[in-house]
Amino acid sequence: MEKKGLIVAVDGHSSTGKSTVSKILAARLGYTYIDTGAMYRIVTLKAMREGLIRNGNVDDEKLKEVLPTIIFGFKYNEGKKCYESYMNGEYVETAIRGLEVSDNVSLIAALPYVRELLVEKQREMAKEGGVIMDGRDIGSVVFPHAEVKFFMTASPEVRAQRRYKELIEKGEKVTYEEVEANVRKRDYIDEHRETSPLVKTPDAVLIDNGDMTVEEEVEEMLKIIRSRYESRN
Ligand code: C5P
Repeated sequence: MEKKGLIVAVDGHSSTGKSTVSKILAARLGYTYIDTGAMYRIVTLKAMREGLIRNGNVDDEKLKEVLPTIIFGFKYNEGKKCYESYMNGEYVETAIRGLEVSDNVSLIAALPYVRELLVEKQREMAKEGGVIMDGRDIGSVVFPHAEVKFFMTASPEVRAQRRYKELIEKGEKVTYEEVEANVRKRDYIDEHRETSPLVKTPDAVLIDNGDMTVEEEVEEMLKIIRSRYESRN
């Protein structure tokens, strides 16, 4: 009988290229890629559209009502060779990546009732194994027993520069300063929130990719995943 694929947890700071390498790894291994950040972004978009975020405050009562009505969808785009996000059947990939959602997402992701629901969905999505899941709490909370865990980081300046380039290429009107402020703010909220703060678990392999090419990173990670797979019973 063929061995079940592994659960690979990829956590780390914002804009460290987690999704870029996770997608490549998933394609090379024939695994499913799950972008948990997109799920928090979809909830944020919904909350913004319903007017539930005002001056940094969330209307918890209304959000708790709206939350179960959200249907998360991820469809593979053959042309672009990537998964794209849908909310209740509507294409929202572009909307959830903008600076407005990025500015509010850490606020929404800090809410325990939001996390509880999304973690439950994430566990369900990975129950067959053979999954690369990226996020902030995958190795610490969602799958504390994941067979392989990575923690990715790079300096805030390197990450802001990458994100700025990405947004400009997409035609967004942003300044480098705004992007760097967003990266730093998200780090702070993610690391200091009470529920599931961003931490590197002792068993996670640290990847500081400030000076690495994507290909070098992928090769290093693949080696680790393959050796864990081989050594597993
Ligand atoms: O990965 P991405 O930057 O798209 O995630 C958006 C935000 O969602 C993060 O800044 C973080 O606040 C939150 N997040 C989280 N837990 C996850 C994934 C994302 O708190 N597993």
